[in-house]
Amino acid sequence: MDASSPDLPSAASKSVTPMMAQYLSIKEQFTDALLFYRMGDFYELFFDDAIKASAALDITLTKRGKHGENEIPMCGVPWHAHENYLARRIKEGFKVAICEQTEAPAEAKKRGSKSVVRREVVRVVTPGTLTEDTLLDAAANNFLGAVAINQGGAEASLAWTDVSTGELHVRTTTISDFESDIAALSLSELVAPQFDDLDEAWAGVLRDGSEALTITQQPAPIFSSSSGERRIKESFEVASLEAFGNFSRVDLSALGALLTYVELTQVGKMPTLRPPSKSELRSVMAIDHATRVSLEILKTQNGGQKGSLFSSVNKTVTGPGARLFAARLSAPLISPQQINERLDAVTCFYDDSALREKIRDVLSETPDMARSLTRLSLDRGGPRDLLAIRDGLKSARTMAGLIASSDGLAPVPDEIKIASVALEAVSNGGFSELIQLLSEAVSDNPPLLARDGGFVAAGFDVKLDATRVLRDESRKHIAGLEAQYRELAGVKSLKIKHNNVLGYFVETPPAHGDKLLTGDLEKTFIHRQTLASAVRFTTTELADLDTQIARARDDALVRELDVFAQLTSAISDRGRDISAAADAVAIIDVAAANAHLAHAEKYNRPVVDDSFTFEIVEGRHPVVEQAVRKAGEEVFVANDCALSESGSSQLWLVTGPNMAGKSTFLRQNALITILAQTGCYVPAASAQLGVADRVFSRVGASDDLAKGRSTFMVEMVETAAILNQATDRSLVVLDEIGRGTSTFDGMSIAWAAVEHLHNTNKCRGLFATHYHELTALSETLQRLKNVSMRVREWKGGVVFLHEVADGPADRSYGVAVARLAGLPPAVVARAGEVLALLEAQKRDGGELDALPLFANAAPPAAPDQGLTEIEANPALATLNELNPDELTPREALDALYRLKSLADGV
Ligand code: ADP
Repeated sequence: MDASSPDLPSAASKSVTPMMAQYLSIKEQFTDALLFYRMGDFYELFFDDAIKASAALDITLTKRGKHGENEIPMCGVPWHAHENYLARRIKEGFKVAICEQTEAPAEAKKRGSKSVVRREVVRVVTPGTLTEDTLLDAAANNFLGAVAINQGGAEASLAWTDVSTGELHVRTTTISDFESDIAALSLSELVAPQFDDLDEAWAGVLRDGSEALTITQQPAPIFSSSSGERRIKESFEVASLEAFGNFSRVDLSALGALLTYVELTQVGKMPTLRPPSKSELRSVMAIDHATRVSLEILKTQNGGQKGSLFSSVNKTVTGPGARLFAARLSAPLISPQQINERLDAVTCFYDDSALREKIRDVLSETPDMARSLTRLSLDRGGPRDLLAIRDGLKSARTMAGLIASSDGLAPVPDEIKIASVALEAVSNGGFSELIQLLSEAVSDNPPLLARDGGFVAAGFDVKLDATRVLRDESRKHIAGLEAQYRELAGVKSLKIKHNNVLGYFVETPPAHGDKLLTGDLEKTFIHRQTLASAVRFTTTELADLDTQIARARDDALVRELDVFAQLTSAISDRGRDISAAADAVAIIDVAAANAHLAHAEKYNRPVVDDSFTFEIVEGRHPVVEQAVRKAGEEVFVANDCALSESGSSQLWLVTGPNMAGKSTFLRQNALITILAQTGCYVPAASAQLGVADRVFSRVGASDDLAKGRSTFMVEMVETAAILNQATDRSLVVLDEIGRGTSTFDGMSIAWAAVEHLHNTNKCRGLFATHYHELTALSETLQRLKNVSMRVREWKGGVVFLHEVADGPADRSYGVAVARLAGLPPAVVARAGEVLALLEAQKRDGGELDALPLFANAAPPAAPDQGLTEIEANPALATLNELNPDELTPREALDALYRLKSLADGV
């Protein structure tokens, strides 16, 4: 936000109007944001901003005046609809500086007729600092991060916050963990040092990251650890940070930069943030970006939520619950004790269905207190946020009561106990007073904005009630006047009306207009307006009442805004407790939701410990299972998976034709692990899992054209990452690695990768391949086990049984699958022919081992011998050229005659 754009004229230039000079001087401070410059009912954009915005938002580009010879491009968005426009720009990673008029035009006029209304940027809206419900997804956190890196690059910390909910965390990171750390958070924006200030390795990592996420580079001073420390102490009003945890200098530098950036974008106002919490080093499972994409944890590969793991297993009923669950699913735990604490909470609600249902009923009516609290602390809240806090706290209290009085089957576990204390803020005297205050103060169905007035309940404020009485009495008085004037004028159709221009006025039909302008009546009625349909008058008394009513209305509004401020401050006084209660609501929602899911989908509690066991009995894929059911197809077939370091089955090599269910089986085991370590029940009859420190999942051959890397390059980079990082505690799932290159290359790489996983990484893993040759590895690799997907041949086709069986697949069935896929019969027939030839050659000891036997391989070039045979036989050659799908009946008959005659000639 510092360098100035070379294209803009200078604010000091003589040739610009005073207003343009003001615009330019503001724009100079916000060069990397689009400046929304308020003019009356519109936000206007000028120069380059206008050109960019008009193209992207599809709004008309106009012009306003000239600068030198050139016209100044301009476009505008209506003030009341600007959030819509904002949402679209921000999602694309833009920043928008909102510049408001900060004085009334009348004030400016006092300084001289040419004075420009004072304007100031009140906020910079960036992807990571949103607070509006309309711009946010209720079910997802919107994290802003800041990374600080010490000199030399050896130490680094990542701090992050969700401005809309106030949470604030920091964790140590390293150059190799950084990618998976930011992937776990799905940051919307990252504040980083200027890349030029960093060593090459870090600059490279950040440059790569900037393709996927908005990275805002900031100058070195905001990363100073001592000013960071000061800022945190000031923000949280403490003399020492020890109470919050043990922070390193780099932690402080990251936290300080984060807070400074939030303050910069909020232009001096700070949202209520919670004290920073330090995430334990490696307390969560590392899942890198490619694995998240491959397993579709929060989003599917095409970016949607539907069809992701999250959308299939999320049964929370509140926004905060959904956000917490998404955060947990993104960062499963690795401590069996912590995992079991979460599982205990689920079990409590699993066992006590009555309690669960009651709690879920209350939850479904619990508003999002965290986001309302933040809006209120930033002066962006409205009367409905007051009610959200009131209703949220009421629900919290009800839930605490339900939990306390539950005579559940098992004792209440710690997680729920702690949450239920926070629900009532027991140690701080509870929320009763605040709830009562808000209940008495705010009327039902209040308006969205405080400045619309009318939200303070009658009876709450004596002065307000008095002004309201005055206003109402004046109104009644006016109603009385109508009758009086009718009589006085002798005009039955006389009415008193109101509009914004005239205020209150007397109206008669034109026929009676003159009457009121004559004689004594003229003394009472003062003419204001003659229209075709009516004549309008005022009277001294009416004008007085009008003024009184207007004054009462203004007084009432001032009073209401006072009350609003008073209520907001009562709420922020309890900010910390309310935040804690909001967190507790989320925790309870997640536990009850998982219990509900477990009942609805027949999930079971996994046994999680720190062994190296991996024993899943009748496991199912949480997403595919639901999809199969929805499609009304056959039921999902459950499969076991047992990988153990002792014995002979730590690494499974899975073979079988395409569509047989290999990928589904591989992923379901990774997903079950992730669910279990998140603290959820799992889709299996039983599961015993020694925690995995990392889960890797890769599918061979996916292009990453955005990064300019070929299919094969991506595949190799990702395989390298796994082979370099997987430990004996990791779970590795590799699907069709080595597919993106020639057969020999691909098979050799797959071969070597399996050997490396087995001998060096010694991890638990599943490896699906179409290279049948790899199945021979089980003879040399002791802990490698061959399994395959069962299929049955039936009437010349195949039926997939989706069952995992011991031993390698007997053959590929690729041609049969091709037929199922709808390949033209001629191609299927030809493929069958070529396959028969190839297999015959292989049996005869030919050189064909190199050809992939499964269907993903490019169609093999037919061997010379085969072609010659066809070419040598004119009947076969003719047959070869026919495409039955394209023949009319007549042409087909002709072809048959031609073939017959060729056959006759042989
Ligand atoms: P592959 O990886 O072998 O090509 P997939 O795992 O992609 O096969 O599975 C193909 C389809 O088969 C899935 O989309 C799903 O509809 C179905 N399927 C897979 N596994 C099962 C199962 N265990 N039970 C029922 N249907 C399944």
